[in-house]
Amino acid sequence: MIIIGRTALIVFAHQERTSFNFAMKEAAQAALEKKGWTVLVSDLYEMKFNAVMSRDDIRGEPKEPSDFKYVAETLVAWKEGRLAKDIEEEHKKVAKADLVIFQFPLQWFGLPAIMKGWVERVFSAGFAHGLQTKYSEGPFKHKKALLSFTTGGRKPMLSPRGISGDINVILWPMQNGMLNCCGFKVLAPQISYGVMHVTQEARVEMLKNWEKRLETIWDEKPIRFLPNQDFENTTGGLVLKTEVEEANSADKYGPTVGQNLGKPLPPDSQLKSQGSGL
Ligand SMILES: Cc1cc2nc3c(=O)[nH]c(=O)nc-3n(C[C@H](O)[C@H](O)[C@H](O)COP(=O)(O)OP(=O)(O)OC[C@H]3O[C@@H](n4cnc5c(N)ncnc54)[C@H](O)[C@@H]3O)c2cc1C
Repeated sequence: MIIIGRTALIVFAHQERTSFNFAMKEAAQAALEKKGWTVLVSDLYEMKFNAVMSRDDIRGEPKEPSDFKYVAETLVAWKEGRLAKDIEEEHKKVAKADLVIFQFPLQWFGLPAIMKGWVERVFSAGFAHGLQTKYSEGPFKHKKALLSFTTGGRKPMLSPRGISGDINVILWPMQNGMLNCCGFKVLAPQISYGVMHVTQEARVEMLKNWEKRLETIWDEKPIRFLPNQDFENTTGGLVLKTEVEEANSADKYGPTVGQNLGKPLPPDSQLKSQGSGL
């Protein structure tokens, strides 16, 4: 099936054109375009993307120059069209995108600094999240996103018995704290484990599998996160409703990696699509 009119944004972080990450980015672009997608790319090192939050992220005078608060100032600047030009350019790309793919090497169990900086500056207050518009009510609730990353560690190392620990725990801050927080429907991550340790044939197979997956990526169901209505406002902020906790009481596992209720983590819940589609 040819998809007409969908747009993908690939946010890409690797310095080298000879890298496996670059090959994954190229493969994604080609596979999506073949299916009729418009593909936008933010090649962060190539752009020399400024990854550092600062007062320069707003144009014009701050509202409170002697007590500058980044979130409050950028929120007002966003409303008034006074954010830095490079942030505005990235906002336009995100606004157009139905699907955002992050392609990167896992570094220190997370995003490379340049990509973390992109998230910090581009997923700005108002545009990407607000007090009333977070998680399942986030501004990007009609968009999908996925993390495609390579690791140095081989798969068993990133398991509950491995030295790096359970990959689901590593994924939770990025997939919940970043993507789900802004409302994205999060698709299962594409993880290319131990890319420098496997054979050339295995890497070629990884690229082929990625291209194949992308042919029908839009039809995939997202990973399950708890909806906002499962939480209630308390003096300590939003917490899980007692009735939701009680409904889980017979289950062996906690509901999610984060809302685990002190129980074993639901196995591979950050790796598998479980929820309903858009
Ligand atoms: C600061 C830092 C922190 C890190 N933290 C972690 C961590 O927390 N956890 C972890 O697991 N790892 C970590 N790593 C390792 C890192 O994740 C890996 O180095 C990275 O994932 C490798 O990806 P790459 O694209 O750079 O691979 P490359 O080394 O560029 O490529 C791997 C192999 O693929 C080959 N290749 C390139 N293109 C193709 C193609 N088209 N077809 C087939 N083969 C191809 C290359 O020639 C090479 O042999 C860290 C690394 C750094 C620098």
